[in-house]
This record gives sequence, C-alpha cells and structure tokens, in this order.
Amino acid sequence: MSAIARPLVKAYIALGANLGDPVAYLCKAMDDLAGLPGVSLINRSSLYRTAPLESSGPDYVNAVVEITTYLTAPDLLAQLQRLEQGAGRQRAYRNAPRTLDLDILIFGEARIDSKALTVPHPRMTERAFVLVPLAEIAPHAVTSAQRMAVQSQAILPL
Ligand code: ADP
Ligand code: MG
Repeated sequence: MSAIARPLVKAYIALGANLGDPVAYLCKAMDDLAGLPGVSLINRSSLYRTAPLESSGPDYVNAVVEITTYLTAPDLLAQLQRLEQGAGRQRAYRNAPRTLDLDILIFGEARIDSKALTVPHPRMTERAFVLVPLAEIAPHAVTSAQRMAVQSQAILPL
C-alpha cells in the first residue's frame, strides 16, 4: 500500500452568521473545524459585529481563523459546506441572511478559479468584516491601503 504525502498548507477561513444565535454558531464552527481530520486550528480572531453588507437582517458576527491542513482546497470547501449544512444553513437567495457562512480566504499560495471555488476569495478586499479580523491574526496578509479602503464600513468588537 502506498500513501501519497500531501503538503501541509496554511489557510485562512472567514466565519459569519446573522441568524439564530450567531455567537454560538461561530464558536461551534471553530470547535468543529478544530476537530476535522487533517485540520489543525492554529489561531482565531476576536468576534466582531458588523451591519449587513449586500445582505439583510440582523447584524452579523464575524471572525477569521487560521488553520493548517492536509486537505486539498476542494476537500476543505466540502467540509466547510458540511458544517454550514449542520448549522441549518438555507440558501434561499443570493446574500440571504444565514446561520453560518464559511469562506476560504487564502489557501497557501494557491490561485484557484474553478466553478465551485475562487481563491484568494475574490471579494475579501472589499469587506471590513474580513480584513479587520484577518489583520488581527495575520497582519502581513492585509496592506494598510486595503484597510484604508474599507474604513467607512463600521465594525465593532463584540
Ligand atoms: P457567499 O459566501 O458569497 O455569500 P455562499 O456561501 O452561498 O455565498 O457560497 C456560494 C458558492 O460560493 C459556494 O457554493 C461555493 O462553491 C462558492 N465559492 C467560491 N469560492 C469560494 C471560497 N473561496 N470559499 C467558499 N465558497 C466559495
Ligand atoms: Mg460562503
């Protein structure tokens, strides 16, 4: 039997929720991520509160985590979608309020542009709710120009 060694990749995942008990959904998602085979949770940002952007409903709770993983990016996405389903995520319409949204922001040095997956996440630099928690745990990943560009978007520590 031969085992194919997969590389260990550092990745950043954005978490967001604005339905039900968002704090509970985010905390459970972080614990669930930490428990995934082939995934180690390395760091987690604080929780932040933001007004819906291109969305609706109650305020969002947002955070970003750093993981290392032996999973491929598509396999990681599949696991994230499984966790979203487990949180009762409904996809009623685009940008609908949600109990849990898990997006891959960065996956090592990977540049992916497939039907199911775009990495780095194409809209991450437009969103304070991503850049602020990301900069908290990965200051090197966010430039001051990027941070300045979203400074009009209110984001508060929870
Ligand atoms: P959004 O996060 O944009 O509000 P969804 O969570 O409903 O929307 O995801 C819509 C689709 O986005 C998913 O089915 C997934 O295939 C795709 N997608 C593309 N790139 C990514 C990424 N980097 N992280 C997570 N999902 C992604
Ligand atoms: Mg998503």
